[in-house]
Amino acid sequence: NDTISLDQLTGWLTRFRDLVTEQVSYLTELDSAIGDADHGSNMTRGMDAVLGKIQASPVVAVDELFKGVGMTLVTSVGGASGPLYGTFFLRIGTSAGPVSTLDAPGLAAALRAGLGGVVARGKAEAGDKTMFDVLAPALDAFDADLVVFSDISSAARAAYSAAQAGRDATAPLIARKGRASYLGERSIGHIDPGAASTSLLFQALAEILDK
Ligand code: ADP
Ligand code: MG
Ligand code: MG
Repeated sequence: NDTISLDQLTGWLTRFRDLVTEQVSYLTELDSAIGDADHGSNMTRGMDAVLGKIQASPVVAVDELFKGVGMTLVTSVGGASGPLYGTFFLRIGTSAGPVSTLDAPGLAAALRAGLGGVVARGKAEAGDKTMFDVLAPALDAFDADLVVFSDISSAARAAYSAAQAGRDATAPLIARKGRASYLGERSIGHIDPGAASTSLLFQALAEILDK
């Protein structure tokens, strides 16, 4: 694929909602080990609200879609993940602009802008054991694959592989941001919940582009 359409981007969000719903217990379990056991419910509540908003008020442009998604997450999710995912999607919207499709470099740039939003909000760096540790390597893999194959589907598959590796690599880390950081060394040995949900975001993207 050379481009991703507004319908496919909506499909991405829908699939992400479905994946966090399927894995709500897993996300809750990860957050009960090193947090407050609400990451599963935060993500399902947020994404249910997002899908509700999309169904209630259809959009015609990519920026409109993602600004709505971001605002909905910021307002419907109380935890750290609401503003972080919210800012991620808001910045994707701003980067994309009033278009109805994105080409591969446009999608790469939008995702990169989203990562910038997460960093602006949360100040996470590599190895802090957060969603950053999935987002950053996934986007690096997306960009690197795009240079070689110039295909969005292939780049999304590469991003998902890197996301899974990034998620698993959070287990041995000491948390330095968010609630898990209160545990210090006791956070070692557990996958970060936000890293796990962000991996589902890339699973969703790879899956809808393969259809
Ligand atoms: P809360 O911690 O408020 O209960 P959640 O449980 O929904 O919120 O989300 C926790 C996740 O948020 C963590 O697993 C981590 O990935 C992510 N997170 C927390 N703080 C930061 C931060 N400063 N930067 C990036 N990600 C963060
Ligand atoms: Mg939590
Ligand atoms: Mg909480």
